[in-house]
Amino acid sequence: MEHLPVFLRLRAAPAAVVGGGQVAQRKIELLLRCGAEVTVIAPQLCEELAARAAAGEIRHLAEAFHPSHLDGARLAIAATDRKVVNTAVSEAARSRALPVNVVDDPALSTFIFPAIIDRSPIVVAVGSAGNSPVLTRWVREQIEALLPATLGALARFIGERRKAVQEALAPSARRSFWERIVAGKVGSRVLRGDAGGAQRDFERELRASQLTTSGATGARALGEVYLIGAGPGDPDLLTLRALQLLQQADVILYDRLVPQAVLERSRREARRVFVGKGATQGPRGPHTDQGRIHELMVRYAREGLKVARLKGGDPFVFGRGGEELETLARHGIPYVVVPGITAALGAAAASGIPLTHRKMAQSFTLVTGHPLEDAALDWPALARPHQTVVFYMGVAHLAHIVSRLSSAGAPLTLPAALIERATLPEQRTLRGTLQTIVALGREAGIAPPALLVIGEVAALNVEALAEACGAPAERAAIAAEAGDRTEGDLA
Ligand code: SAH
Repeated sequence: MEHLPVFLRLRAAPAAVVGGGQVAQRKIELLLRCGAEVTVIAPQLCEELAARAAAGEIRHLAEAFHPSHLDGARLAIAATDRKVVNTAVSEAARSRALPVNVVDDPALSTFIFPAIIDRSPIVVAVGSAGNSPVLTRWVREQIEALLPATLGALARFIGERRKAVQEALAPSARRSFWERIVAGKVGSRVLRGDAGGAQRDFERELRASQLTTSGATGARALGEVYLIGAGPGDPDLLTLRALQLLQQADVILYDRLVPQAVLERSRREARRVFVGKGATQGPRGPHTDQGRIHELMVRYAREGLKVARLKGGDPFVFGRGGEELETLARHGIPYVVVPGITAALGAAAASGIPLTHRKMAQSFTLVTGHPLEDAALDWPALARPHQTVVFYMGVAHLAHIVSRLSSAGAPLTLPAALIERATLPEQRTLRGTLQTIVALGREAGIAPPALLVIGEVAALNVEALAEACGAPAERAAIAAEAGDRTEGDLA
């Protein structure tokens, strides 16, 4: 390790910053967040710093740097664009044994600024000792995505109750008590913003722990179920909450539509149980899949486990999520529902087909293409113009769907698209019309999971249009420029 990561307390401590530009300003903002008393030494200040000086939030010395400016300071920062000045600050600070940072110059610095994830009072600092700011930023983004925005609230919740727990529990019982609070129901309630529920569960846990340590044995606490939409397949399309809960789960019940890459984002130690079609075929004969899923969810939750029920797309869009919730509610098992990107939205984005379009489609409808539901559908309504209709579960019955639409009045020239395994690396998109789409799909061997999109928008391909206009090259240039910064600046 080249640097010792420490957290420096700077409340009311004098800090000297040499330089009055935007780079200095970013450092000053950080110092002010920690309550430091900042003095800026610079002939001129940028607009934001001038405003802060005028408001009395920082002290400004409109002078050229002199070593005596560091007298009494606890920390020095040099952020000028002149090497001689930066070197002078560094030397003066070092001769006074004062920690010094020269922005973008590790050789002149005795400390560097890490990239920061701020969920105060929880703070994570990431650094690469100046080797790769881009990698540091990537690491920060990974951690950032995993930490709930409300983590600070959980830290405060615990901080406010530490003393009471110290008085109530023997030292040997405290650690496992707090572990249950952080990883259990109380923690997830605080993170969700349910302060009242968290307090109730906290009191219950505390009483149970007191009983257990005094010799009585309490019943094991009930677990909970997270009904999580995994999105259309690309793991980067998981929501932040889905990722967070996947990291907390003890057991994961997943089905066929959830790809390996998504499962890999879950906690390594979690038990993974496949509950998709065919999972229950065995010597004891077929079993209803849905019934077994209900049974497993209830059983694991009763064992006190945190169960992630991971479903493709969104749990409430052709996902039978409603039935699963009814079962949980009937058994009094707490649950959380996390929405996911439904296949139609993933497919639209990944194939460049906008589902609505000012000139072509004023609405879109998500329909099941399952033949069992056929009679319940209003085919004349689905055949009307100026809309987009997306069929789920329809690949096996394409010819039937197309003939139903056309007998209900849809023209054979109406554009149609098939999108197979949308958002996954092997995605395929076929574009045609009501007249051609069945043959196109058959020739290409399109298989589930795939969607059928009907409507004028199905002829569009926004992505191809952007490429034709040279947009990607421009995007790459912008991205390259954005990567060219230092760790501290990215903090
Ligand atoms: N709850 C899911 C839908 C489950 S029904 C959601 O919100 O997306 C299963 C159907 O979804 C499949 O038959 C297929 O039509 C569609 N589907 C799911 N993932 C898909 C994908 N990656 N590409 C295309 N279609 C998909």
